[in-house]
Amino acid sequence: VKYVYDFSEGNKDLKDLLGGKGANLAEMTNLGLPVPPGFTITTDACRTYMGTGVLPPELRVEVTMALRRLEDELGRSLGDFHDPLLVSVRSGAKFSMPGMMETVLNVGLNDASVQGLAKFAGDERFAWDSYRRLIQMFGKTVLGIDGELFSDALDAAKKARGVTADTGLTADDLRELVGEFKQIVLEQSGREFPQHPREQLDLAIEAVFNSWNTERARLYRRRERISDDLGTAVNVVAMVFGNLGDDSGTGVCFTRDPSTGVPGDYGDYLPNAQGEDVVAGIRNTLSLADFEKLNPQAFGELRQVMRRLETHYRDLCDIEFTVERGKLWMLQTRVGKRTAAAAFRIAHQLVEENLITKDEALERVTGEQLSKLMFPQFDASAQRTLLATGMAASPGAAVGQAVFSSATAMEWKAQGKDVILVRRETNPDDLGGMIASVGVLTSRGGKTSHAAVVARGMGTTCVVGAESLEVDVTAREFSVKGKVVREGDTIAIDGSTGEIFLGAVPVVPSPVVRYLEDGLEAALDELPEDDEETRELVVAVDTIITHADTVRTLRVHANADTPEDAHRARAWGGQGIGLCRTEHMFLGDRRVLIERLILAKDEAEQQKALDALLPLQREDFVGLLTEMDGLPVTIRLIDPPLHEFLPDYTELSVKVALAAERGETGEEVERDKTLLAAVEKTREANPMLGLRGVRLGIVIPGLFALQMRAIAEAQAARIKAGGTPKAEIMIPLAASVMELHLVKDEAEVILATVAQEQGVELDIPVGAMIELPRAAFTADRMADVAEFFSFGTNDLTQTTWGFSRDDVEGAFFNQYTEKGVFNVSPFESLDTQGVGGLVKMAVEKGRATRPDIKLGVCGEHGGDPDSIHFFHGAGLDYVSCSPFRIPVARLEAGRAAV
Ligand code: ADP
Ligand code: MG
Ligand code: MG
Repeated sequence: VKYVYDFSEGNKDLKDLLGGKGANLAEMTNLGLPVPPGFTITTDACRTYMGTGVLPPELRVEVTMALRRLEDELGRSLGDFHDPLLVSVRSGAKFSMPGMMETVLNVGLNDASVQGLAKFAGDERFAWDSYRRLIQMFGKTVLGIDGELFSDALDAAKKARGVTADTGLTADDLRELVGEFKQIVLEQSGREFPQHPREQLDLAIEAVFNSWNTERARLYRRRERISDDLGTAVNVVAMVFGNLGDDSGTGVCFTRDPSTGVPGDYGDYLPNAQGEDVVAGIRNTLSLADFEKLNPQAFGELRQVMRRLETHYRDLCDIEFTVERGKLWMLQTRVGKRTAAAAFRIAHQLVEENLITKDEALERVTGEQLSKLMFPQFDASAQRTLLATGMAASPGAAVGQAVFSSATAMEWKAQGKDVILVRRETNPDDLGGMIASVGVLTSRGGKTSHAAVVARGMGTTCVVGAESLEVDVTAREFSVKGKVVREGDTIAIDGSTGEIFLGAVPVVPSPVVRYLEDGLEAALDELPEDDEETRELVVAVDTIITHADTVRTLRVHANADTPEDAHRARAWGGQGIGLCRTEHMFLGDRRVLIERLILAKDEAEQQKALDALLPLQREDFVGLLTEMDGLPVTIRLIDPPLHEFLPDYTELSVKVALAAERGETGEEVERDKTLLAAVEKTREANPMLGLRGVRLGIVIPGLFALQMRAIAEAQAARIKAGGTPKAEIMIPLAASVMELHLVKDEAEVILATVAQEQGVELDIPVGAMIELPRAAFTADRMADVAEFFSFGTNDLTQTTWGFSRDDVEGAFFNQYTEKGVFNVSPFESLDTQGVGGLVKMAVEKGRATRPDIKLGVCGEHGGDPDSIHFFHGAGLDYVSCSPFRIPVARLEAGRAAV
């Protein structure tokens, strides 16, 4: 293998091998831009080093040869005592990890070459400044010495001289400081500062490799989902000097504003400085405009390079440069990170400038960025008091009064108050309170905790796992850093940053939502004429999402159970309902009817309960079919275990026992007793795997029949009203084709009967959810009966992995992600190998039996970008997600198609 590449040998597409920095230094070199010469040690070498713990011997040889080429080119040799070559040794992984890894500058300086450097440059001060920087960086990075020891010594020297900036130190001060630094090295590491230039180089290379595995680098990678085994490249670059006086300096710049996307030159410049001085903020930086005044020629050249790079990369570039005695040198470039708003605006601008195609524009933005733009945002310029920071679970900016129970949340909401529900963690009982709240805040749990998942589904702002909060639900207060927030106090939470503020923070609503709901014209009408930035943003979102709609092959449906949700889904571009959960229609007032059904002593009583439910269900479906006229509405027959509709077992037993003890009698007591018996009978150890889904339909006569009749009658009613209803019946949790046969036979009879009664033709397809491994394995058989499949990937994930979501997410998932069993919870993003493998198999088998079978997916994964790309690849016809995720799904489906 070849471990070392000269800059002239690489290019920007070799990021895997040369890292981002190395690949782009090579690209700039080959563009003829002024890059100091150098070479890159590959990530291959790093991986070998990590495996064996020693630098591969061939690497030493290759470094020697590359170094010779460099020395020959420049006519100087590393660390030579009169006119030395100095180099920087710089980390640079495939993905940029800002500030995570190490860089050592001025390698090659020692007690002899510092004299040579001084003479060559004609500047004593500069030479000693460079030497003290080397010892400082080398001591910290390579020898692992506490950096504060050096900075304290530097501060002491400044104080002694009576100056505040390091530029105020004289050559003598710096020479003295070098002595002190060497002493620190000796004391702390037990060895002299290495004088041999090649030893410095080799140790620095090894240190850069090691910096790949520091705690903070690992942490960063876990957060950014970057794999731990990529390794970093090392760049060895001939030094150029920004600390050679006032006509020298160093800076960073962007070709467009990375926070807004406005085209232009943005950046900071620091005269007479080296390396990290700019970012470290040790002196106040100048703007590029000031730099232009200071050095118009170098600035002119920089601007030309910026234009050149932007045209070449066809994107916003982020640049590091240095000016040595008026001459410009490029030290780094990359396609720059940017905010969500900037991403959309820049992509749109580049299309307008004919630099990229619309397909490419689509690739430059993400669904996550779009969702960030959809939430109201806190006004960052407002005065704010930060209490704590938790995990950002569901974006948005919520201001409300703190409440500590679901009941209070609902009560206060009914009084017209905005509330934020604060809990240690939430559970399904809190749903009502969560719906009533503008925001949800928990002190426990991660991004896949109940609170997080539910809030995201509802589009409610949510911050979870704010561990510094002591939540006391009984006392109705929480405390943090000695501050106590009581029920009714106003707080503000930012679901994009995880920040929690005391008191109200003003918000600004998102014009992007206005656009999504009411269209471009309405959104623009509402914006001030002179707010060009926001106007451009809305236009950009429109252009890009419209393009996504034209290229995507996946349809986007919504999970919706109510006419209001259906209405929103349609407004936001939903092309149907992919999952209507009918169980929600049995809650609230109707719960008693279900109770009666379960408690019925004979068929007559049962029928009475069913008859009472029928008109209610029918009206539910009429409402949905009206909103979604002309579009498919997939209705899932009742799915959850029965006990979810009955009172809680413990509470009820206590109530019955108390009544007995007090000798109470009467109708209610009798009813409670019967109810308790029923609850006891339906109690299950593993409800998720118990009597639910199609099993209910088969075991409890009349239940599915009722629902299917309601669907048929609703369809008939809509047809008679002149509509174009497209109801579909979906059977949950089937594992065997026999189950489907039983239900479908019943469906056919009901549909025929209702068709005759109503005198209309009823064409209502019957399909199956594929959410059990057995259903996937036997999908060819299932497709004999099922006219469509909808993958229920939530249950399919549970049953494939053999864990129940409610039991595992808080319990051990954190450790599982930390230890790398998975990068991200398989409930958040589809496990493409396991669960995805089953999906692919079922698609193939289903199509083999029934070539025109309609295939979709419903559940959380339908709105998750990575999962959407997978479903596109698997050849599904649609994804279904919560109404709030529709725009994200439209965009991602488009991105998957280009
Ligand atoms: P990071 O990845 O943290 O940005 P770099 O490797 O880019 O680290 O180095 C940080 C800074 O050091 C650069 O921005 C540049 O200013 C300075 N630097 C690196 N190499 C050289 C060099 N050969 N000559 C002069 N300055 C350099
Ligand atoms: Mg850099
Ligand atoms: Mg399911």
